[in-house]
Amino acid sequence: MESRISQAFQTGTFSEQAITLAKRISREIERGISDPGARTIAYESPEAQLRFWEEDSGKTPPEDLMTLVNNIIERSVNLHRRGYLGHQVPPVLPVNILTAALMAFLNNGMGVYEMGMTGNAMEKIVTGKLARRFGFGNDASGFVTSGGTLGNLTAIMAARAWFLKAHPDADYQQLSIMVSEQAHYSIERTFIVMGIPAENIVKVPADDRFSMNTDILEELHSRASREGKEIFAVVGCACSTATGSYDDLETLAGFAGKHSLWFHVDGAHGGAAIFSETHAGKLKGTEKAHSVILDFHKMMMAPSLSTAVIFRSHQLSLLTFSQKADYLWESREEDEWYHSGKRTFECTKPMSIMHVYTAMRLYGDEIYGEIVDRLYGLATEFADRLRQHPDFELATPPQSNIVCFRYRTEHPDINADALNRHILDVITAEGIFYLVSTRLNGSFYLRTSLMNPFTTMEDLNTLLSGITTAARKYPGS
Ligand SMILES: *Cc1c(COP(=O)(O)O)cnc(C)c1O
Repeated sequence: MESRISQAFQTGTFSEQAITLAKRISREIERGISDPGARTIAYESPEAQLRFWEEDSGKTPPEDLMTLVNNIIERSVNLHRRGYLGHQVPPVLPVNILTAALMAFLNNGMGVYEMGMTGNAMEKIVTGKLARRFGFGNDASGFVTSGGTLGNLTAIMAARAWFLKAHPDADYQQLSIMVSEQAHYSIERTFIVMGIPAENIVKVPADDRFSMNTDILEELHSRASREGKEIFAVVGCACSTATGSYDDLETLAGFAGKHSLWFHVDGAHGGAAIFSETHAGKLKGTEKAHSVILDFHKMMMAPSLSTAVIFRSHQLSLLTFSQKADYLWESREEDEWYHSGKRTFECTKPMSIMHVYTAMRLYGDEIYGEIVDRLYGLATEFADRLRQHPDFELATPPQSNIVCFRYRTEHPDINADALNRHILDVITAEGIFYLVSTRLNGSFYLRTSLMNPFTTMEDLNTLLSGITTAARKYPGS
């Protein structure tokens, strides 16, 4: 009998499967572009979903690959649909679906140089280009890690080490940073990971556009210092997650300089605006930062996860981990850029840099500027439409491709939060559009991230009609 291993390695079967799968994916992409009525999500409850897969997993092999693939696709969110307006995750560039397959084939776990000769060189080139765009000097240095959460942690741990080097007697349990109350939760998590009370973090209130209110920075800094806090960094959002609002990075840079703080820019989502002539100005001040992160798997349409972490200088980039793993890296010069594992959490690290490197080689960096312009532009148009519409209320004018709004009601017996929650449930059950929600100033808002460059204003008008219909059918309306 044929062994399972030789069965798994039958190349004839493999190439047939690859072609069939590629054709299926290609049809999905095509339909996403051309069919505005195609379903984005076929929502099922967690219990029903688990039942389906339990039954599936109980079947005896062999399973036909395409039967399995079809089930997976039909039971997952399809980000290539024009109605995909959910979280900040993109439909992946078709060529990057291929680089993902190539990445899996090579599987060079690139923490040490020879296990990632190509990947390490590509990372240096791409992060170098990004550093120049952000306005850093020649000494800037970066690498890629697995996600913005890990990127923020890598940078803030470097900031901590930088501060403790200069202040070895600082009370560790009093360490603190300043960040907008609108910041992504990964910032707070860095404190949990570092073993410092998260309550120490000075959360700066936001203004009416959900950007940090920088007018009160000095006052909050003095107060925290009087309370014994040892503030070591200030973090700017570029942009915030809920509403896509940019903090005033120039002012933050000045504030950080004045108080000798590390300045970190969380550009996970909005850092990609650096590729756009129209929107790059929103990142002004980043050139004075000590560190900045940028997720390739958000606005740059790469598959998850792939995040650039860039430091103002190579020396600063070495601070996160001063620990040595000598069995991996024979101690030579400290500034060996080509062993990226010295500076990242990952040991076996994926060659995810191939996605952006390949897209840049095929389409030029211009493709990223185009994506940002298209999606940020669509958000502005959508917001204009919402502002003109009597039934809708816009949370704030969008500064990126994230638009938050809600259906308005003046009805005394109808709770606006409950109504909007109901609307979201109806739209999700219909499945053509997928959007999410957020709480702003205590109220429930519908939240859209316009991630698909094929979504049109017509699609968004269809969404608004659907919302109005759902609202009119709400009990009591
Ligand atoms: C998405 C996001 C993160 C987290 O990044 P992951 O890649 O999801 O880990 C951090 N900060 C901001 C502003 C984000 O938008």
